[in-house]
Formats: sequence, structure tokens, C-alpha cells
Amino acid sequence: MLGGVTREGRSIHVICTTAQPVLIIITAHEPKPPEGGHQSKGAVRAMRCSIKRCPGEYEERRIVHTVRYHGQVIVIDHVPAEVCSVCGDVLLKPETVRHIESLLRMATHPASMVPLYEYV
Ligand SMILES: [Zn+2]
Repeated sequence: MLGGVTREGRSIHVICTTAQPVLIIITAHEPKPPEGGHQSKGAVRAMRCSIKRCPGEYEERRIVHTVRYHGQVIVIDHVPAEVCSVCGDVLLKPETVRHIESLLRMATHPASMVPLYEYV
């Protein structure tokens, strides 16, 4: 885990693994202000699930992401995401969200059409 401060004075934490010969950046996020002044100084191994009392950890997966954009349902396949191995909670990286937004802005030619059913 690396700490840094951007020119605007915002601090950025980058969590990455050093267990492999190549540096893999797992996630970059702006840390929340410490709650009650207490912060754990333990080594960060894998991202713990953010759901209360869930013992799971996030792992890299490709998911089917569904968004509603201008009233239309849009399905994007093979979106890289962090998925909790226990409860299935999904996290998208900020750059993934930005990429999805740019895909939606240019969404003119879908790769394929999917059947859409209403739950009635
Ligand atoms: Zn979980």
C-alpha cells in the first residue's frame, strides 16, 4: 500500500501486491477520513469485503454490468470488477466506471442485442 498526495492536496492510497515479480495495482482510492482517529497499521493483503460481518475478500472477475442510461437498459459484458467471494458484493474501479461512461456516450453500435424481460 502506497500513500501519496495529489497537487490539489487530496491524498490517494494505492493498494498493490508485491508478491509477484510485476507490480499489480489492485485498487486506487481516496481514503476516508479516519474514524475516531484509529487506523489499523496492519499489512494490506487483499481487500476485505465492505459488507458488515462478511468475512469475504474481493477477487478480480469479469461481470455482466447492467446500467440504465437515458431510460434504456444497457448491458455491458466482461466488465472487470472486484467481487466478494462470499456475498458477491461488486466493486468497480474509478477508471472502470469512467470507461463505462465513455462507452455509454459513444454507444452507437452494440456488439449484440439481448432479450429483455419485464418482471410482472
Ligand atoms: Zn462480502
